[in-house]
Amino acid sequence: MSDKQQTIQSVLSEKRVFAPSEQFVRSARLNADKLAALHAAAAKDHVGFWTDLARKEISWQTPFTKTLDDSQAPNYTWFADGKLNASANCLDRHLATRGNKLAIRFEGEKGDVQLYTYQQLHAEVCKLANALKSLGITKGDRVVIYMPMVAEAVMAMQACARIGAVHSIVFGGFSAGSLRDRIDDAGAKLLITADGGHRAGNIVDLKKAVDEALSEGCKSIGNVLVLRRTGHKVGFQEGRDIWWHDLVPKQSDRCEPEWVDAEHPLFLLYTSGSTGKPKGIQHCTGGYLLGATVSSQWVFDLREDDVFWCTADIGWITGHSYVCYGPLANGATIMMYEGAPTVPDAGRFWKIAQEHGVTIFYTAPTAIRALMKLGDDWPKKYDLSKLRLLGSVGEPINPEAWMWYHTVIGQEKLPIVDTWWQTETGAIMISPIPGAVPTKPGSCTKPLPGIAVEVVDESGEIIKDNDVGGYLVVTKPWPSMLRTIWGDNDRYIKTYWGQFGNKYYVAGDSTHRDADGYYWIMGRIDDVLNVSGHRLGTMEIESALVSHPAVAEAAVVGRPHEVKGESVFAFVICRGERPIGAEAEKLAKELRDHVGREIGALAKPDDIRFAENLPKTRSGKIMRRLLRSIAKGEAITQDVSTLENPAIVAQLAGKA
Ligand code: ATP
Ligand code: MG
Repeated sequence: MSDKQQTIQSVLSEKRVFAPSEQFVRSARLNADKLAALHAAAAKDHVGFWTDLARKEISWQTPFTKTLDDSQAPNYTWFADGKLNASANCLDRHLATRGNKLAIRFEGEKGDVQLYTYQQLHAEVCKLANALKSLGITKGDRVVIYMPMVAEAVMAMQACARIGAVHSIVFGGFSAGSLRDRIDDAGAKLLITADGGHRAGNIVDLKKAVDEALSEGCKSIGNVLVLRRTGHKVGFQEGRDIWWHDLVPKQSDRCEPEWVDAEHPLFLLYTSGSTGKPKGIQHCTGGYLLGATVSSQWVFDLREDDVFWCTADIGWITGHSYVCYGPLANGATIMMYEGAPTVPDAGRFWKIAQEHGVTIFYTAPTAIRALMKLGDDWPKKYDLSKLRLLGSVGEPINPEAWMWYHTVIGQEKLPIVDTWWQTETGAIMISPIPGAVPTKPGSCTKPLPGIAVEVVDESGEIIKDNDVGGYLVVTKPWPSMLRTIWGDNDRYIKTYWGQFGNKYYVAGDSTHRDADGYYWIMGRIDDVLNVSGHRLGTMEIESALVSHPAVAEAAVVGRPHEVKGESVFAFVICRGERPIGAEAEKLAKELRDHVGREIGALAKPDDIRFAENLPKTRSGKIMRRLLRSIAKGEAITQDVSTLENPAIVAQLAGKA
């Protein structure tokens, strides 16, 4: 065991603190004093704080006169009588000062590179917006985007926003059935897609899935606009299908933005469904854009010369807020990459970072753990000296993975921002401010200015003390909050507000707040186990397992137990080969003892099952819902269409 591994501790006993480097603090947008001033202003006047920011950071066509309307709570509105356009904020307002600056650096999996300045992106977006208009799309119409991770996907988002159409992106990895459900739920008129995309050396046949989805249902769809990306042969239905290259290039490169009310829906985004039937989360234009814009500045310390690479697909909220809207509203240069991180080899991410001069790198714990498994030699082959900030989002990051990120990629000096937020929150809510807040591995630290987060107990009482655990709630409305669930406002109220009498937004995550007021997300509420009357976070047991040198990844769920109420069931992925027989038994015993030492005897898993992989959603999250069924020995009835590796289910069930 290396020294580093020996010092890794389980989450709640993690005591290491990393202060921002002096060099970073010197040129940071926010240092500790400036951050304290923002917090003080927000605490003094929550509404006034957001009013000032909205006036300063957003270009309004008609200024708003009223900030927050809470008369219909929990359906809040912000800046409701103001008019703006999101695309004008992302593009037009930069043309005078940044017209020749790169907006997008794109690289395809095969190595093809495309560069777009703000001027060029603006022209492409206008042409596409005119093309959408020519197909009869107008303000308020829903447009589904089902595309690979290419620059044209961002153009499609911007073009919709420009004419006031509401985009709903369906991740390109989703099946035809998932696509159909989402088209039908949104009642979309137009589908923008591509023949396919390149991924892991293969072609993702998007058009085939589209044809299958549209073969039944989807009656609202009038046209399908198809980008030629891969060039492979695809089905084409005359009258319905239109090639992008036949329609878009001939359009005018000028298109006046459609000025919309601040509350006009900008997009719908269906949550990933890792906990149930997908919900069409509805975001508005003004408040959402403000949240994405200011959080990009605060959390990523965006500067004029940054190249910002958020690796998330545009099919996830992270891709909306931190590939498209946040960075572009700030006039930044974004990096987009189409393919898999291991093509042609495990150094691809680092090669891209070197060649495009990436300065800010934002990814998910699942990617960090995967890159860690590939070894330290790959990043060491490349010059990563331009990197100055690292970020993480999507799941709690295990201290072990955090330390690897810090040491190997961050060269022990770059700040790491572990950002907690949700599709529903629109923008980052809890995160370190890199030039101001010391970090602790595994903690997302403290809420951003203007974000009122608390911990409540089971009866909904706010716990003011520190060193406590409970439900994570937001006690005051914030501009980028979801407005409703598309077509089902009752479900919105019930899901997010009902639990504690509509008083707070209930995030659905459980958290621990330590003695310094730092937040540690312990996972979703239903992931908390109750073993013999003691509440245990699955995250904590997983981190203890991962801190053992033989373990690469672990997922823990509860299984009903006659005596204890629940027992701990662990699925473990080893660093090398999957152990079997006596070897597996020996390691299982060792891991039980290890968890006993790290957390306590109570947390020792009753069952440990070794597998080659875990079931993940396409966004890389462990599907614990599925693992719970497996642990109980139930038949799998869940929709596994979003699984990246469906074949793994049999192995996890102990049948392979
Ligand atoms: P669904 O709601 O359909 O089950 P989802 O919750 O996975 O899907 P997202 O909105 O993408 O969809 O993810 C938000 C959730 O991800 C949070 O509620 C939290 O559980 C987890 N999460 C995100 N960022 C972090 C983080 N930095 N630390 C810990 N957990 C995080
Ligand atoms: Mg969720």
